[in-house]
Amino acid sequence: MTQFNVNLQSPIEYLKGVGQQKAELLKKELGIFTFNDLLNHYPFRYVDRTKFYKIREINADLPSVQIIGRIIAKELLGEKQGRRLVAQLRDETGTMELVWFQGIRWADKMLQPGSVFIVFGKPTEFNGRYSISHPELELYNPASRKQGNLTLQPVYSSTEKLKQSFLDTKGLQRLQYSLLEIAANIVVENLPGYLLEKHKLLRKTEAIQQIHFPLNPESLERARRRLKFEELFFIQLKLLRNKLLRTGKYKGLVFQQVGDYFNTFYSEKLPFDLTDAQKRVLKEIRQDTQKGVQMNRLVQGDVGSGKTVVALMTMLLAVDNGYQACMMAPTEILARQHYESIKSMLGEGFITIALLTGSTPKKERRKLHETLQDGSLHILVGTHALIVDEVQFKNLGLAVIDEQHRFGVEQRAKLWRKNTVPPHVLVMTATPIPRTLAMTLYGDLDVSVIDELPKGRKPIKTLHLFESQRLRMFGFMRQEIAKGRQVYIVYPLIQESEKLDLLYLEAGIEAVAREFPLPDYRISIVHGKMKAADKDFEMQRFVKGETQIMVATTVIEVGVNVPNASVMIIENAERFGLSQLHQLRGRVGRGAEQSYCILMSGNKLSREGKVRLQTMVRTNDGFEISETDLQLRGPGNIEGTQQSGVLDLKLADLATDQHLLHEARQEVIQIFEEDPDLSNEKNRLLREYFIQTSAGISWNKIS
Ligand code: ADP
Ligand code: MG
Repeated sequence: MTQFNVNLQSPIEYLKGVGQQKAELLKKELGIFTFNDLLNHYPFRYVDRTKFYKIREINADLPSVQIIGRIIAKELLGEKQGRRLVAQLRDETGTMELVWFQGIRWADKMLQPGSVFIVFGKPTEFNGRYSISHPELELYNPASRKQGNLTLQPVYSSTEKLKQSFLDTKGLQRLQYSLLEIAANIVVENLPGYLLEKHKLLRKTEAIQQIHFPLNPESLERARRRLKFEELFFIQLKLLRNKLLRTGKYKGLVFQQVGDYFNTFYSEKLPFDLTDAQKRVLKEIRQDTQKGVQMNRLVQGDVGSGKTVVALMTMLLAVDNGYQACMMAPTEILARQHYESIKSMLGEGFITIALLTGSTPKKERRKLHETLQDGSLHILVGTHALIVDEVQFKNLGLAVIDEQHRFGVEQRAKLWRKNTVPPHVLVMTATPIPRTLAMTLYGDLDVSVIDELPKGRKPIKTLHLFESQRLRMFGFMRQEIAKGRQVYIVYPLIQESEKLDLLYLEAGIEAVAREFPLPDYRISIVHGKMKAADKDFEMQRFVKGETQIMVATTVIEVGVNVPNASVMIIENAERFGLSQLHQLRGRVGRGAEQSYCILMSGNKLSREGKVRLQTMVRTNDGFEISETDLQLRGPGNIEGTQQSGVLDLKLADLATDQHLLHEARQEVIQIFEEDPDLSNEKNRLLREYFIQTSAGISWNKIS
């Protein structure tokens, strides 16, 4: 072996068996540039090569089978594209076919009638007969079958181009094998020994060996556990260290007192009693804001749990202490609605509050900037428009961000810079996310949960109807409208098929207009293609009760609040994701009346679609729904995950590895309690981790 000068970062072409051409392919096709990249190209599954099937035992559900059999016949069939070689394989229980569409000449030479082969591949069924296309073949030689051989063989992802250059699973196995021969010299342990012992983890070298070529299922499991732990551990280490740095580095504004604004609002203006959960969260916020450390708190609360009033009271707290506050919402409709409802709750002459959106006229905007800078404006509600540089506060003390998953990290960072001492940040989300995901996504935020709905809310009744039951749906609408209620009908409008969706929407509007004609019924229509002013006009008509039916696309999804609307009908419900369905349903059930959600779908449903609709019918609990969503789709598709590290997880699965995540996070918390700057000798490796990965921290600290 001449490879003693190599290390993990060595270019892949230095590896035995990888020439220039293969190196280029590995880089291009799999992103493998270094030894380390190859070691991290884990198998995506394993096949058990100790198990042999009899032909009679085969069924098409098996992912792959291994059979020993004799070739009894072969023939060339078809012309041109249809040309194929078909061979008959027989064992003592039956006969099956092996088929080649490519590499026919090679297979033809290989398959001498009468010879016995070990055949491996995925069986398929056609007309009651089984066949395998392009099986792996090995001439059977009883004498040379090694005993005690590896039981589980790794299967690697590869590509057509790689396969042509002999870098199929077998080829990649060979490369891994030769790399693992020197792994003991180059793989560096990155977890301190005391952690390995405490958490019963394999050493890194061994884990890498075993994940590629496991001795048995047990050692594979141990290897996976070690590598998953490592993944989760370092994410938590990074998140919690950022939090530590942030709280150490930035002084926080101190909201010393609860003053007149807060107290007057609470005792004279608040139209209802706060729920216990709202009170608890306010208490947590109160504690955060008097510590002298910048608050970064996420308030998670299901739709309708009353987050807005919590935000409002926090803003009053800021004003009581001589600071300004702002609240940013993701859409114009929502910003306007927050503005209106806050204004009506506060009443005239109490506090100065203004709205700033993209459609605020220039003149008004200039005036607004002035009042912001001289401090006479207390609260600013708005959209993204309020983060631009021209918007300067006299002394911003609190920034509230509603529906935070709609905003990018960068936009939030801009809010930080609106004051020399960064303002306290309160982030609100109605997309409940499972705890595991929260720990990873918002690991450096403090999390409050409003886990209680205001008293007297009747749970929304949810119903799933098929297209054939549409008349029943219309009948139900009529009945509710007669009682004075209002109805939403929502259509999907999804980018890729926008044209078709618009057609559906138009057809839907026509059908509704036919069923519910003037003058008895009036309809509002809102969709994303309309001008903001028109949208607003239509929305307002519905809010004021001038129209009874609102036909809309998902633009109304977030935050819209019309308590008299008690029926939500979702068309093509099978096309929506779970969290979106839940958000939409949350638009009703906001008043005292019994509310309903009707999910309309076609007759043909995918399995996943069925589970989604069943879940919606079964439960109103946003956390349960998000848990199911995570199981169905994986974390990558959950809203808000796109910018986080969770997508980079190679092995760990936030849906199934909750225990391990918890274990890792607890460990990190304990480490930082004992040794906040990681200066203990026993934590040397952890300190080095930060030295090696110190680049690119700047954005991470703002989550
Ligand atoms: P979300 O958490 O979805 O943002 P909102 O803040 O919009 O919910 O509140 C939903 C509705 O519930 C609003 O009409 C609000 O005035 C009302 N509400 C909030 N808190 C309470 C409470 N403690 N008791 C009764 N109604 C409440
Ligand atoms: Mg809200």
